[in-house]
Amino acid sequence: MAKIYLLDVTNRDGVQTAKLGLSKLEKTLINIYLNEMGVFQSEFGFPTTKHETLYLQANLELAEMGVLRPIRLEGWIRAVVVDVETTFKQVPGIKHLNLSISTSDQMITGKFQGRKKRHDIINDMTDAVDAARAHGAETIGVNAEDASRTDIDYLVEFGLAAKEHGADRLRYCDTLGYDNPFTIYEALKTLAEKVAIPIEVHCHGDLGLAVGNSLAGAKGAIDGGQDAYINTTINGIGERAGNADLVAVILAITKSKGFADKYRLAKPVKLTRASKIAEFASYAFGVPIPINQPGVGANAFAHASGIHADGVLKDPGNYELYDFKELGRGKPKFVDTGREICTGQYSGISGFSHIMGKIDVEFSSRDEASEILELVRYANVESQKPLVEDELLFIAKYPDIAKKLLTMKPLE
Ligand SMILES: [Zn+2]
Repeated sequence: MAKIYLLDVTNRDGVQTAKLGLSKLEKTLINIYLNEMGVFQSEFGFPTTKHETLYLQANLELAEMGVLRPIRLEGWIRAVVVDVETTFKQVPGIKHLNLSISTSDQMITGKFQGRKKRHDIINDMTDAVDAARAHGAETIGVNAEDASRTDIDYLVEFGLAAKEHGADRLRYCDTLGYDNPFTIYEALKTLAEKVAIPIEVHCHGDLGLAVGNSLAGAKGAIDGGQDAYINTTINGIGERAGNADLVAVILAITKSKGFADKYRLAKPVKLTRASKIAEFASYAFGVPIPINQPGVGANAFAHASGIHADGVLKDPGNYELYDFKELGRGKPKFVDTGREICTGQYSGISGFSHIMGKIDVEFSSRDEASEILELVRYANVESQKPLVEDELLFIAKYPDIAKKLLTMKPLE
C-alpha cells in the first residue's frame, strides 16, 4: 500500500509570504525542529538566490555532520536550465531539487503573454530535468504550478514527459486554492493512475480548504497506487491565505474518522514536538498562533460552558478528540516577570555571560565568550529580536556554521 510523506515548505513558501520573513538562523532552527519531529523533507530554500547561498551550504554541512539527518533538504528553483546551472554553481553540494513551471492556460496566456506555448513548457521542464540529472541531482520533483486550473489531459502529458526524463515526483500545485476535496481527489487519482509516479499535493487556503484538500489529494494519489507527499507549512504560514498547516495535517491523517485505518504516514512523526515548533515559528515570524488553531491554539483544550466543562471533567473523551499531552502541551511555562537581561545587537560580555550561564553554557576563556558574543550580536542584527535559548545553544555549539549563516555573501 502506498504511503504518505510530509514535505514541509515553510522555508520556501512560508518565507515568500508578503510582510513576513525569517533570519537564516531561524530557518536553520526550523530545519532542525522538522528533523527532530520526523518530517521527511524540508524545502529549505532558493539555491539561485544569492543571499541564500551560505545558508544553504551551511545546512548541507549540518546534514553531513549528522545534525540534519535523516531529513532530506531540497531546494526550489524554476524549471529552466539557467536556474539548474546557477544552482550547481552556487550550491554544488545540493542533492535534491524541485523544478517549478506554470502549466495552466491562464498562466501561459496571462503570464507568459504568448512567449511560450504548451509544448515550450514541457520542453523547458524536460531540459531542466536533464540538466539537473547531469549535474548529479539525486532526486528531482517537478512542480506543475497552477495545476488545479490546468487541463487534466495536458497535465498527464506533462507528468509523463517529466517521468520519461527521470523525474522522481510530480507536484500538483493548487496554487490559488481553487480545488475542493472532491475535485482534487479525482485529479490526483487520475494523475497517479495515468502517470504512475509519486505525487506531491500542494494546497493553499484561499477557500479555507488547504488541510481538507491535502488529505483528499493524498487519498486520490494512494487510491491511484502512488505515494503521496503532502506539502505543509508550520502554522499554515504561506502566500496569501496560507498553506496546509503541518500540525493540522498530521492530526487529520492520524485522527480523522476512518482515515488512518487505510492511509498511513510512511514514517512515524513525533507529534509531541508540535507545540514547540508552532511556538518557535510564531515567534520567528512575529505572527501569533490563532486562539482556535488545531492542537496548538490557546483554546484548543479550553472549556468554559457548563455542559462541556462538566463533560470533560467526567471524561475528557466527551469533548476532546485527542489529548493535549500528545501535542507536547501541559508543561508549565517559566515567564520571568521581573528583571530581564536579553541579547541584542549591542550586547556586552557581562550581560551575555549572565544569559549563557542561565542556560548552563560556560566558556573556557574570555576570548571564546567574546567570539560567541560577536556571533550572537550578528544574529540579533538579522532577526531584530532577542534570540531564543535554542538559537544561543546552536551558536555556542556550532560557531563555524553560525558564522556562515550570519555572513551575507558580498554581491558580485
Ligand atoms: Zn504555494
